Amino acid sequence: MEVQGKNILGFSNGEGAVKTFRTYNPKRNEENHFVIEEATEEMAYESVRKAHLAWEAYRFMPISRRAEFLRKIAESFRAERVYLEQIFCLESGLSEKRAAAELDRTCFQLEHFAKAIEQNQRLLPSESDSDEACFLNKRFLSLGPVVVFGASNFPFAYSTMGGDSASALAAGCPVIVKGHEMHAGTGDLVAQLVNRAAKETKMPDGVFSNLNAKGHWLGAFLVKHELVKAVGFTGSIPGGMALYQIAQNRKEPIPFFAEMGSVNPIVVLPQKLKDEKEQLVTLIRDSMTLDAGQFCTNPGLVIGLASSEWDYLVHEMSAAVKAIAPQVMVHPDLYEKYYGGLERNVLLLQEKGVNVELPEKTGIAEPFMVELSAETFVSSQVLAEEVFGLHTLFVRCKDEAQLLEVLNNLAGQLTCSVFASDSELKQYRSVFEWGMSHAGRMVLNGVPTGVTVDRDMHHGGPFPASSDSRFTAVGSDAIARFLRPICFQGFSEKQLKELIS
Ligand code: NAP
Repeated sequence: MEVQGKNILGFSNGEGAVKTFRTYNPKRNEENHFVIEEATEEMAYESVRKAHLAWEAYRFMPISRRAEFLRKIAESFRAERVYLEQIFCLESGLSEKRAAAELDRTCFQLEHFAKAIEQNQRLLPSESDSDEACFLNKRFLSLGPVVVFGASNFPFAYSTMGGDSASALAAGCPVIVKGHEMHAGTGDLVAQLVNRAAKETKMPDGVFSNLNAKGHWLGAFLVKHELVKAVGFTGSIPGGMALYQIAQNRKEPIPFFAEMGSVNPIVVLPQKLKDEKEQLVTLIRDSMTLDAGQFCTNPGLVIGLASSEWDYLVHEMSAAVKAIAPQVMVHPDLYEKYYGGLERNVLLLQEKGVNVELPEKTGIAEPFMVELSAETFVSSQVLAEEVFGLHTLFVRCKDEAQLLEVLNNLAGQLTCSVFASDSELKQYRSVFEWGMSHAGRMVLNGVPTGVTVDRDMHHGGPFPASSDSRFTAVGSDAIARFLRPICFQGFSEKQLKELIS
């Protein structure tokens, strides 16, 4: 198998492309050899038309067939993993180890969703053949074609066949992916394999499409299309919000599920720090610096109370961070954004009298950490924004009140982590209360990175972490985003079975 670079419209390829582009190898600092064709409006239109037609058949297909399709996709990824992982590494600069782990996660996720729909009573036909009319019977039906946007930093797990696509297919919705231009080759291979699995399991043509474009027109076009009924987005806050506005301003507004950025505060309480300072240094350092900090759950902020232990933490972290080699980011554009964020914050901090230097601009990301007072942190809202990459602020507070002031300066978060001893759980209840009202996941004595695929996972959070804090992008509950409830009144189980078997 090889990268064909075509736009994939169900079982056929888009013909008549006018423009092409290439993806980039950030490690070798050169363009990759394969050419990617840019979709045309006609292709985008055709993919939506096909998805709509496919939906007519796919939505009422027995759940067991949908589950078989999801498992077949996972099987086809495993069978072609060598080449998939090779292109993943070429386009992202991420390690082979990371490619393998992300592919395993992607396959596991597909199988997890397959199992979840097979066990969901509200999706399955009833086992009863009763002729007796039920007064009320609530079921869940798929919304219709879903458009998916993936993030650059997860070419497998949050992209072409990541959590959004897998959960939409599990819900009974055909998917049209607006491929990420930074890993269009990986997306192309994934899409070819999804359609191979679709053919092998006799899914309708159009159940899955993958379109490419450099620039924003294609995403906007798809979100506006009247036959598109929902959107799954993973990416930056500006990108998510631009598309969210489009979805809400349509004649028929549609559900738009955006998982966006976060600074993921870690609060380090004094007793816990005293008891386990060495372990905390290792844990936090590894979480901050893994894969150049390119995780939506990367900790951008560590907050604690002034003490000799806090000074130790900052000193050790600073030494540990200096010892870490600079790392390539997934794309030069992301490095530019990272460096731009650093530059902005360093200038701001220097103006406020913080002794900090801007690292040299080398094209390879150097880890950046600086300690500042709570007063300095709260004096500018800009410091509370995500700088995607190896950027972490350590904020020193005088007391609990100031700690809360720092927290209250933050918007909604994907996660809030607290390192606390048993007694501090009660003593600093206000910190946990803050987390419960501002974060989608609270971590006790652990770091935010590492998002387990599980029914109990919640990956979302109050705005701007996500556009709807009631829903998760990870774990089987993610399927609920693409279903709508319907109440059947007066139908017998037998009649219902005939309608929605
Ligand atoms: P991004 O720049 O927002 O891109 C994501 C997708 O949205 C791309 O396909 C992009 O298309 C499209 N897009 C962006 N702005 C658009 C606009 N104005 N109009 C139409 N389409 C637009 O995100 P990224 O840099 O790839 O990913 C890194 C970000 O994702 C970080 O902020 C990270 O925290 C976040 N993230 C969040 C999660 C989560 O689950 N919460 C997971 C991973 C990453 P183009 O390619 O044309 O720009």
